[in-house]
Amino acid sequence: MAIDFTLTPEQKKVQMVARDFAENVLAQVVREADREPDPLKAFQLTKPAYVEAYKRGIAFGMLPKEYGGGGLTNIELILAAEEICAVDPGFACTVLVNGLALLPVWYWGTEEQKKRIMGAATSDSSGAWIAGYAASEPPGSPGGTANFDTPLPHPVGIGVTARQDGDSYVLNGRKYWPCNVGGWDGEGADVNLVVVRTDPEKGGTEGLSAVLVERGTPGVTYNIIDSFGHRLTPNSEIIFEDARIPANNLIEGTFGNGDLLINRNFAWSGPVAGIAAVGVARAAYEAALTWARTYTAGAPHPMIHFQNVGYVLGDVAARIEACRYFCWKAAHYIDEHGYHGELIGAMNKTYCTETLFDSVYKCMQVVGVNSADKKHMFEKYLREAAIFPIYDGGNFGMQRRRVHGVLASPGFNPRALMDNEFVEFTKDMETIDTIAHVEAKSPAHI
Ligand SMILES: Cc1cc2nc3c(=O)[nH]c(=O)nc-3n(C[C@H](O)[C@H](O)[C@H](O)COP(=O)(O)OP(=O)(O)OC[C@H]3O[C@@H](n4cnc5c(N)ncnc54)[C@H](O)[C@@H]3O)c2cc1C
Repeated sequence: MAIDFTLTPEQKKVQMVARDFAENVLAQVVREADREPDPLKAFQLTKPAYVEAYKRGIAFGMLPKEYGGGGLTNIELILAAEEICAVDPGFACTVLVNGLALLPVWYWGTEEQKKRIMGAATSDSSGAWIAGYAASEPPGSPGGTANFDTPLPHPVGIGVTARQDGDSYVLNGRKYWPCNVGGWDGEGADVNLVVVRTDPEKGGTEGLSAVLVERGTPGVTYNIIDSFGHRLTPNSEIIFEDARIPANNLIEGTFGNGDLLINRNFAWSGPVAGIAAVGVARAAYEAALTWARTYTAGAPHPMIHFQNVGYVLGDVAARIEACRYFCWKAAHYIDEHGYHGELIGAMNKTYCTETLFDSVYKCMQVVGVNSADKKHMFEKYLREAAIFPIYDGGNFGMQRRRVHGVLASPGFNPRALMDNEFVEFTKDMETIDTIAHVEAKSPAHI
């Protein structure tokens, strides 16, 4: 019996552990932290909940048991993520990024790096250990992130450089947007995985690699970013000024393959982002349904008895169901194919995040003007839902481009996902759409 949507007892347990944590621990801090104007203080307000998540095996549940992690499958991970995101997707993003930072160490690191870094992450007595993953860069001309795999050399594409100098790499440049990187005090996470340009003469498919930057590295500073959504996770700018790291902090298997790391990472997180959108839409839908069942809008009966209200909420519920099972499929695919899902992860993320943004707005339309009153939370749901399509590898410049690259590949089998066949993601599927058919102009001429 292959297709069966019933959760196993283990899966149900993971879901219930996460639900209990979300509803009884995390929910206590969400409103106050979300209202806090200082983004670093907002993040710090979540620290006790994070420590509790750590103790309950949630913070590093995605890492393999062999290195002290929870050994969750990707299916189990997203079952837990839905529960946490229904309460706060920003907090869940902090946990997600622990995975984006450390799974590449598992995929491509040396045994020494795995033991040192994953071992530290999973054996911290304070329970506050946190990791960042820094690929994204600041806007500018050139600047930004979407064209990280452009075949052109520096300064187009990824701008942070890492020059080898004896037993060290020396980093210069800026990252912008990564969350967690500044840690609990804005002085640095315990470790940050940073995608850098190890060869400025080469393009994005040959010149990128990933390095580990540990807390306390001289020449690294952080500035926190004040964003409108996901306020419980801390986004930061990182500035590298002749920051020297040991050469053995290069993740060897990523040398010249930082492009593949970015694609694999933002595909692994595809169903996590997809299910985050499910969680937020679910919260908005449940709140709207409760409202419609109890509020009359001046009529002699609750609003749910109006046809439009029932139709719209029914459509929203259908979309949530459809997206949830697409996420399960994508996570299952990634479990089955050695943590690869470059195609399905991107399709899943774009589809769910865009479909469900509209569903949150539909819930607001149904509730009406009272959805604009902050005390009813719909404005928070909308702010959170608006982040999904633009974070975690933007849907336009990164995720759809990956899908395009695969579909344009001559050997692509259009039934591969349906048949659960492995779609190998290769470098010749990259660079697509990175150079538009216009002559490059200097900013002054744009
Ligand atoms: C809450 C949150 C958490 C985040 N966490 C992290 C993190 O932990 N680590 C990290 O590295 N980043 C993180 N980010 C950044 C995030 O991953 C962004 O998705 C990423 O920076 C890419 O954004 P972008 O595509 O808009 O990039 P940009 O380069 O700014 O592109 C801007 C826009 O230009 C257009 N565009 C550009 N090039 C193309 C093209 N070739 N084809 C088509 N359209 C194009 C697209 O419309 C694109 O959206 C986070 C962001 C947020 C909001």
